[in-house]
Amino acid sequence: MSTDCIDDFLIPACTGKAFKLTRGQKLRVIDEQGKQVAGAMFFNAHNFKEQFMAEFSGGLNYFQPPDLGKTGSHYRLGELYSKVPYENLMLTITHNELGDHFLGTHCSGLSMALLGAPGHRSCTDNFAEALGEFGLELEDVYSPSIMNIFSNARIDTEGDGSLLINPPRSIAGDYVEFFANMDLLVAISACPDDVTAMNDHSCKSIRIQIHS
Ligand SMILES: [Zn+2]
Repeated sequence: MSTDCIDDFLIPACTGKAFKLTRGQKLRVIDEQGKQVAGAMFFNAHNFKEQFMAEFSGGLNYFQPPDLGKTGSHYRLGELYSKVPYENLMLTITHNELGDHFLGTHCSGLSMALLGAPGHRSCTDNFAEALGEFGLELEDVYSPSIMNIFSNARIDTEGDGSLLINPPRSIAGDYVEFFANMDLLVAISACPDDVTAMNDHSCKSIRIQIHS
């Protein structure tokens, strides 16, 4: 299959961007400088109520028929599904060499305040501005269940279940590639959290490429 690059752009540090992806195209989310998390939300381009739900997808990845085998897990997602009542395959991961991501919530106004940085910019702001360009408001379509690409955060399964935030292991040029199984609206946040180790205390840009 051809992998001609038909679009290539940068999402500057601490900002978000929403854009369309056509069924059959491939999306590459690239860590431009290293150790930077990209929050990712996905919507059916023709029905914004149908959106990706991260933890739900993690479960569906290993609820597979025995003869097929699991396609992924919460720690290494293989297929991305939309939430109930839709439950459609939205994207398939076709390259994920590093394999690090965190399925779940992202930084928000309250989380930054609780971390001692009230008023600090968060992924919520990035998503609100990005989706606003498509006429969407967070209260209409929003679920915080996202894929935090390159995140090295983990639930402490040996301890009390706390979220352990470690610096990303990604280096410049690492990327995750997705195949679009439907027409999509994609929203990506270059996570602006420099308070925790989420982005190794330094916010950087994310590069996006769309391949045919
Ligand atoms: Zn964030």
